[in-house]
Amino acid sequence: MKTTAIVLAAGSGKRMNSKVHKQYLLLKEKPILYYSLKAFEDSAIDDIILVVGVGEIDFCQKDIVEKYGIQKVRAIVEGGKERYHSVYEGLKAAGETDYVLIHDGARPFVSQSIIERTLSAVYEYKACVVGMPVKDTIKISDEHGYAKETPDRSHVWMIQTPQAFSYPLIFDAYSRMLMQEDARVTDDAMVIERMTDYKVKLIEGSYQNIKITTPEDLSVAEVYLEK
Ligand code: C5P
Repeated sequence: MKTTAIVLAAGSGKRMNSKVHKQYLLLKEKPILYYSLKAFEDSAIDDIILVVGVGEIDFCQKDIVEKYGIQKVRAIVEGGKERYHSVYEGLKAAGETDYVLIHDGARPFVSQSIIERTLSAVYEYKACVVGMPVKDTIKISDEHGYAKETPDRSHVWMIQTPQAFSYPLIFDAYSRMLMQEDARVTDDAMVIERMTDYKVKLIEGSYQNIKITTPEDLSVAEVYLEK
């Protein structure tokens, strides 16, 4: 049985207001992307597929994968315009595998215990995503900015990555979704929800498993690393 991690690093990171793409910004002298690659390197995952921006393959190969001795990277491929295009490139490059864990390279704090929980859950449920129950009350607004609905907080989760699936299930769902005109999805679970009858199991991530998106997130990440 083979399990592959697809690590996504092809986003432009516009909200970071930085010339350097956010996954290459340094945290404690190492690029943000290094931390998630290292987490998968140290786990029971067999292979890593790294998805990077156009023209960044050589840089990632030399300055990240080789420099930090990440040995499980089997391929580095270019991503696409939206996250879901990048995921599909990663899925195609993964080839013969039984399970995939799709992870945002912008989440450096994925831990061994999160990876272990994800692996056990995907073997059992075939489709699972990590997340955490929300701490704040969430409101759905109408188009004029008035509160329309307040979902029961005990059933509202914020979703993180890894998102993990049986490979044939997710590859087939993505292939069919990308044939549709309006493919817009913001995570991989949505592809399963939209295209199949499978239920996606929600499992516990951690409040520390943040996605680095804006400059404030970098300061928070530095505090976590100090710990
Ligand atoms: O843009 P956002 O922060 O939601 O991106 C989440 C992850 O997906 C990041 O790791 C980013 O590099 C990746 N991504 C990608 N290809 C895109 C857009 C985002 O690989 N076209």
